[in-house]
Amino acid sequence: MAQHKMQGEENLIILGAGPAGLAAGLYAARADLDPLIFTGTQLGGQAALTDRIENYPGFPEGIGGTELSNLFQENAERFGAKVEYDTAMAVDLSRQPFLVETYDKSFPAHTLIITVGASPNKLNIPGEEEFRGKGVSYCATCDGWFFKDKDVAVVGGGDSALEEGIFLTRYAKSVHIIHRRDELRAGAILQNRAMENPKISFIWDTVVKKIDGNGKVETLSLKNVKSGENDTLDADGLFIFIGHTPNTDMFKGQLVFDDKGYVVVDKRMHTNVPGVFAAGEVADPYYRQVITSAGMGAAAAIEATRFLENES
Ligand code: NAP
Repeated sequence: MAQHKMQGEENLIILGAGPAGLAAGLYAARADLDPLIFTGTQLGGQAALTDRIENYPGFPEGIGGTELSNLFQENAERFGAKVEYDTAMAVDLSRQPFLVETYDKSFPAHTLIITVGASPNKLNIPGEEEFRGKGVSYCATCDGWFFKDKDVAVVGGGDSALEEGIFLTRYAKSVHIIHRRDELRAGAILQNRAMENPKISFIWDTVVKKIDGNGKVETLSLKNVKSGENDTLDADGLFIFIGHTPNTDMFKGQLVFDDKGYVVVDKRMHTNVPGVFAAGEVADPYYRQVITSAGMGAAAAIEATRFLENES
C-alpha cells in the first residue's frame, strides 16, 4: 500500500457503476456527499450489455441498455457525482477511514457502497476456455453480430438464455437452446416469444459435455441426461447463460457472505461493517432486476448519508 499515492479523504466511494451504483451516486450527490464512483470495467454493469430493457418503468416502448446506463450516469453527474473510469483492486475495511486501492492510488473514504455486481457462470467443460472469443461467448449483445447467417447454440433455461437467444435470431440462421431439464425457468412472456420464433428450437434434458473445433467452435458433444445418449451438434457459436456469481473476492475475510457468496445486508443495506453498504446483484440473490438494483442503490445512499450525519 505504501507505494500508492494517497488521495484526499472522500465522504463516500461507490464501487461499481451499474444501476445500483449510479442510483446511489445520484442520491448521494443530491445529499451533497460529493460521491466518487469507480466504474470498474463496465459502465452500466450487466444492464449496459442488455440489448433492450422493457421492464424499467417509465419507458413503455423499452430502452436500450447502454442508453439507460448513460441516462443514469448523466443524472448522477448532473448533481455532482464524480465518475472515475477506474477499478478498485483492494479495500481495507479494518481501518477508518476505509481505504480503496486502484492500480496506483489509495483513496480514504468514510463510507463505502459496494455495487460490484456479478459475473457469468462458466460450464467448466473442455474447450470452454480454449474457444472463448472464438465462438464461446457470455454476451449476445456484444458478440451476436459475428454470427450472421450462422448456426448457434445457447445453454440455459432462464430469462437470460431466452432473451439472449431471441436477440441472436436477428443475426443467426438458427438458434438451438440447450436446457438440462424439460421445463424452462424463464418467465411466460419470454417463453412464448421464444416458442413462437421460427429460428429457435429447443434441445431438452441435455447438457454440453465438450466443445470442439479447429481454431473456432465447430461441434458440441451433447448428452441426454435422461436417456444417457450421446450426440453431436454442429454449431458456429455457443452462448452460455447459466446464472451469475457475485464479484466478492476483494471482500473475502472482511464482509459476511451467504452460502452462495452474496454479501449479506440487512433491510437497510448495511453490511456487517458499520459504514459499508452493499446494493444490487452483489447483495441480491433474489430479484436481480434493474429496478430493484437501482432501488437498493438509492436506499444505500440514504443510509450512508444518515451514517455520516450521525458520525459528525
Ligand atoms: P437463472 O435464472 O439462474 O437461470 C440459469 C439457467 O441456467 C437455469 O435454467 C439453470 O437450469 C441453467 N443452469 C445453471 N447451471 C447450469 C449448468 N451447470 N449447466 C446447464 N445449465 C445450467 O439465471 P439468468 O437467466 O441469468 O437470470 C438471472 C436473474 O436475472 C433472474 O432473476 C432473471 O429473472 C433475471 N433476468 C430477467 C430478465 C428480464 O426480466 N427480462 C432478463 C434476464 C435476466 P435449471 O433451470 O435447471 O436450474
